Amino acid sequence: MKKTTGLDRSKTKNWHPATQAVRGGTWRSEHGETSEALFLTSGYTYDSAEEVAARFAGEAQGMTYSRLQNPTVAMLEERIALMEGAEACRTQATGMAAMTTALLCQLSAGDHIVAAKAAFGSCRWLIDHLCPRFGIETTVIDGRDNDAWERAIRANTKVFFFETPANPTMDIVDMRHVCALARAHGITTVVDNAFATAALQRPMDFGADVVAYSATKLMEGQGRVLAGAVCGTEKFINEVLLPFQRNTGPNLSPFNAWVVMKGLETLDLRARRQSENALTVGKFVEGRVPRILHPGLASHPQHNLAKSQMDDCGPIFSFILEGREQAMGLLNALELVDISNNIGDSRSLCCHPASTTHYSVSAEARADMGVVEGMLRINIGLEDPRDIIADLDQALTRVGL
Ligand SMILES: *Cc1c(COP(=O)(O)O)cnc(C)c1O
Repeated sequence: MKKTTGLDRSKTKNWHPATQAVRGGTWRSEHGETSEALFLTSGYTYDSAEEVAARFAGEAQGMTYSRLQNPTVAMLEERIALMEGAEACRTQATGMAAMTTALLCQLSAGDHIVAAKAAFGSCRWLIDHLCPRFGIETTVIDGRDNDAWERAIRANTKVFFFETPANPTMDIVDMRHVCALARAHGITTVVDNAFATAALQRPMDFGADVVAYSATKLMEGQGRVLAGAVCGTEKFINEVLLPFQRNTGPNLSPFNAWVVMKGLETLDLRARRQSENALTVGKFVEGRVPRILHPGLASHPQHNLAKSQMDDCGPIFSFILEGREQAMGLLNALELVDISNNIGDSRSLCCHPASTTHYSVSAEARADMGVVEGMLRINIGLEDPRDIIADLDQALTRVGL
């Protein structure tokens, strides 16, 4: 196995993210295969007993067990790190395994974490239910309010955790401000970048320390496998994350890593086209519903901030109808768009967050973060936007809008 065309990272790291998404981290075997090889193996064999001892002692290079290293997984990790502009990356079985690993690998009883209230349901569950069980103090704030981050800081604050745009309220966090504030206080920022990916937004360019992913979404992009990733400095990944990951084992399977790599090859194309389609469909929906939350539209209160952090605003937006009955009615009237709670897929998918993705969050927390009963979240896919608009048009008409 050798690295892409023999080039080392000092050369390849300057490629743009779209190039990295196709070529970053590629190793080739002696067969010179064009598409990355799938090493579906749990273990490795050795020429001698001394060789394996040397590898375990860290004195010789080489793989020892797929919970520790796997060539296919390593290719994906190198590729994601290069796309992100990060020194290192490790992948996990799901986005939630990535979030749990990114947080628990660095937090201990007595530490404090500040998190934005608008978040994916399971991310909120980690903050509201898991962290307190292990003695980690938590404060949940409005991530849009720069001063609220500062007010929440305590002597034992270790981590700031947020999504931007947030699922499903599309709240934007001012990364330049919040990451600088964290740095000044020795706090690590963990940014969940699932809604944008490196194709549309690179949090490390704004001072983020750790970028965590559900790669299930836009990265994989075609609704096939679950995956997660955590990017950071080599020091963070090797000294903080790896001891946790290697011993707790939330690893990504080589097969799923390979599928995500195939997805990444088209990420730039998909992310841009789906963003464009979402804006086209969003403009149509805006004229028909009481309220739409789309950072790419001038009506979004943080539109300018979103434009200053993101190249494009992504495939997802939310809109608010009168209540649950009308929202469910619209979902049931859809013909082309599927009722589905996934996002980032090349298919258009729509769901009712209060009864699905945010069902595990308490009713009070849902109300506090703005996940109201009339909210629908839609992922705009790669279909012709005229067909998506025609479907939404007939469904909106059926519910009286
Ligand atoms: C989906 C999602 C997750 C969880 O990812 P899984 O791959 O489903 O485990 C975390 N954060 C955000 C913002 C998400 O949209």
